[in-house]
Amino acid sequence: MLRLGARDDMVVLGANHPIVIRARTFEEDFARVGRWIEDYLNEPGRYPVLPALAPGEVAAALPDAAPEEGEPFERIMADFERIIVPGITHWNHPRFFAYFATSAAPAAIAAEALAAALDVKVMLWRTSPSAAELESVVMRWLGRLMGLPDNWTGIIYDTASVAGFTALAAARESLGLRIREEGMSGRSLPVLRVYATAQTHSHIEKAAIALGIGRTNVVAVACDDAYRMDPAALEHAIAEDRARGMLPLAIVATVGTTSTSSIDPVPAIADIALREKIWLHVDAAYAGVASILPECAYLLDGVTRADSLVVNPHKWLFIPMDLSVLFLRDEATVRRAFSLVPEYLTTTDGDVRNYMDYGIQLGRRFRALKFWFTLRHLGAKEIRERLRSHIALAQRFAGWIDNDSQWETMAPHPLSLVCFRYHPAGVSDEAQLERINADLLERVNATGEMFISHTKLDGRYVLRLAIGNLRTTRSDVEAAWSILQREAAGISQ
Ligand code: PLP
Repeated sequence: MLRLGARDDMVVLGANHPIVIRARTFEEDFARVGRWIEDYLNEPGRYPVLPALAPGEVAAALPDAAPEEGEPFERIMADFERIIVPGITHWNHPRFFAYFATSAAPAAIAAEALAAALDVKVMLWRTSPSAAELESVVMRWLGRLMGLPDNWTGIIYDTASVAGFTALAAARESLGLRIREEGMSGRSLPVLRVYATAQTHSHIEKAAIALGIGRTNVVAVACDDAYRMDPAALEHAIAEDRARGMLPLAIVATVGTTSTSSIDPVPAIADIALREKIWLHVDAAYAGVASILPECAYLLDGVTRADSLVVNPHKWLFIPMDLSVLFLRDEATVRRAFSLVPEYLTTTDGDVRNYMDYGIQLGRRFRALKFWFTLRHLGAKEIRERLRSHIALAQRFAGWIDNDSQWETMAPHPLSLVCFRYHPAGVSDEAQLERINADLLERVNATGEMFISHTKLDGRYVLRLAIGNLRTTRSDVEAAWSILQREAAGISQ
């Protein structure tokens, strides 16, 4: 029997004397939620993947103010089903192919409930020794699965964006400019430069904004025709900047870019970073976890010569949002950037890892628990098989596109993402092709049967189909191909 906080569990006769009348139990409510989740996850494909709603419809269905009196759980649950669920974009839908497709392993969902129940804040070792030590252990497990050396440390963050920001903050600190202590304003400092490409994820520019580097100092190094950073162009950009008195702060290489999943040549980039003594951050948010497949181990070639690496188990390792991992060759670099211990957080615990020292956050969620449950419940073998099948499905889809003269793939597709477009015979005008494909995207997504997103490559409008959901099967990908062809046939040129 759980006595706190649920109106139907208790009658309060004065604030200091709660008297519990056990009308319903927490167990019943939780079982109700469990049944809903099971029912939902067994068939998320019964919902339209994108809700057909106008902006503001969900908010309009909700009251203007919070209730003064607590309401029965059952009534809240009914409104969840009536108001919230119809406005959900179903990332769990097996034909969710937009952005990077994701899904959560059931064991991870259960573990999230346990983590919420424990509600620990993983900041000091003593604020939850199990949480702190489990994080270290499962990060070691992940590092080993990916083939990283044991002296790399994995730290969990909410997102790759925050992990990337943290890495660049450490890079900035390692320049020895005393920015941590003295700031950047009112001082005469060299212009700091970050080297990336036009394909680099936008969070790097946001980090540059937040760290006082400025967007214009994120240099877009040229790419080759497969959207990979050109090491010669990188070398040239660094030399030019140095000649102008600028100070290179970091190079960001991407293994699995957001638009196309292109893979920057990390070994050649690492050579330059080491020679030039520049921090190398590798963003492998999407693709990095695929390195647990022996046939994809090449994804991490050269990475152990980098300084930091980010991978997102919440993208393609079946962990529910959020769980991103920053691997560090030398964890002390991040501690030097962020550790700050006020009196009320000092302890006598000795040589322990206090996770509050590794970033901007103090209290952190117990994210390692869901990761531990998932790795144990699925096992590495099953996870490998799932990733392998996603890659195979994407390759199959790309093959259908390549074998049809009305369609074309638009970039190499080494993993589970395919960039493509509809290119009907006789149409060569790029503006017209953009209109046709933008129309096609809208039509396909309006069916509620599947969801894809788009990008632009060299100014050309391109559709993206990403596979990463535990429930996506060959028949879903076949259905997607049929829907695309059916909707394309209805487009006037
Ligand atoms: N890096 C890459 C390559 C990505 O594709 C993404 C998101 O798609 C991110 C970083 C940002 O990830 P997060 O949402 O975890 O911040």
